[in-house]
Amino acid sequence: MSRKLIAANWKMNGSLAQCRELLPPLASVARDSLPLVVCPPACYLPTVAALAADSALQVGAQDAAQHDAGAYTGEMSAAMLRELGCQYAIVGHSERRHGLGETDDMVAAKAAACLRHGLTPIICIGETQAQYEAGQTADVVERQVKAVLARVVAEDLVKTVFAYEPVWAIGTGLAATPEQAQAVHASIRALLTQAGGGEAAKRVPVLYGGSVKAGNAASLFAMPDIDGALVGGASLVAAEMVAIYQAG
Ligand code: PGA
Repeated sequence: MSRKLIAANWKMNGSLAQCRELLPPLASVARDSLPLVVCPPACYLPTVAALAADSALQVGAQDAAQHDAGAYTGEMSAAMLRELGCQYAIVGHSERRHGLGETDDMVAAKAAACLRHGLTPIICIGETQAQYEAGQTADVVERQVKAVLARVVAEDLVKTVFAYEPVWAIGTGLAATPEQAQAVHASIRALLTQAGGGEAAKRVPVLYGGSVKAGNAASLFAMPDIDGALVGGASLVAAEMVAIYQAG
């Protein structure tokens, strides 16, 4: 079974009109053998789920609460997201870790909440520019992955997706080279193997994110441990996103 997956992270962009423009071209190319997941802002999830309904397109949220219910103003639980038609939720995006103060443990708790409610977490990890320049990439990635492994039981590992997103590559136009990304992806796969065994680790998609576009997707996807992409800016242009998907 293929472990490839391509996901679109619209971030806080788009509108109802843009949902209606962007979805049909994606729906027409999506096929079951290569999941294509669209993650719009939460307010557009019902619209996107409706537009995706008769296609192979899948729907994801950009975040999920770590708690199941209660006095958490502004939060949305994994169960609620499921009800809205989501199959996936991004957790631990660097814009939330660094902009909103999410800790490794909060991210791990969010991944666990997703798994409790049948959502596949797309768990983002990656080093900042300063950490990259200080040669700390391997340590940061190991710490972030291990925090998740501390909260996710080994049997559930196959229900997760990881996304390596070096912060210095996000929105900068400066993607990691395929070789750079492959080295980090191989180290992530080794951590997953240690935790859940080789058979399970082989089934976990490890996506790359950070300035993926039509022009660099194929060379990234050619690497043995790069199983697809989490695409930000380029996912807001239908033709770019279709081309990235078709490179998968
Ligand atoms: P980018 O963003 O493709 O615009 O670099 C990727 C992401 O933040 O998920």
